[in-house]
Amino acid sequence: MKKLSVIVSDFDDTLFFNKNALIYAAKELYENLIKSKDTYQDYGILSDLEITIKEGKVAKGFNKKWKTDLYTLAYVKYSKELHPNETFINYIDECVKNGSELIILSARGEEFRKETEELLKAYNLDYKQLILPKNHELKDEEWKLLEIKKLSDKYNHLSLFEDKEENIRYILKNSNINNLECYLVNHSIIRKM
Ligand SMILES: [Mg+2]
Repeated sequence: MKKLSVIVSDFDDTLFFNKNALIYAAKELYENLIKSKDTYQDYGILSDLEITIKEGKVAKGFNKKWKTDLYTLAYVKYSKELHPNETFINYIDECVKNGSELIILSARGEEFRKETEELLKAYNLDYKQLILPKNHELKDEEWKLLEIKKLSDKYNHLSLFEDKEENIRYILKNSNINNLECYLVNHSIIRKM
């Protein structure tokens, strides 16, 4: 028998803000690069890291290898710098108390399962499952769409919460799942799309 209702939530910048962790990680990489003397070939990387240091987000088109290093530092070494989106977590807690199951769907990857579970545990999130991709062959939104399609077969109703509007648009455009509702999370503001 199908379960009634499931909340599917993204992790980074939906449940937890990763801005500070990214800033710390970018500063460390930046300083290492400056010290390493072969910076002449990495001007693009340096200016991209400056964007992260200033804005706490990753520049579009940021070099893939460096992106992996940046996220690994942010999610492992600086994991404690992630802080909870308390308003949203309280809202989710209420939904769980009222009978919904909670599933965390994050594209950060299996390599960060330990750190991700530690944060979820530290803030007492009562979740049923943490779904992470085994590799990064697909784009984040493509992988999420596949997982949501699988979940829609198991549950009567799905509510997806996500901070990236483009991910929600992609999912709504490429799926015709009639038991799916999508919500854009922007700090404490939750907007149905
Ligand atoms: Mg996110």
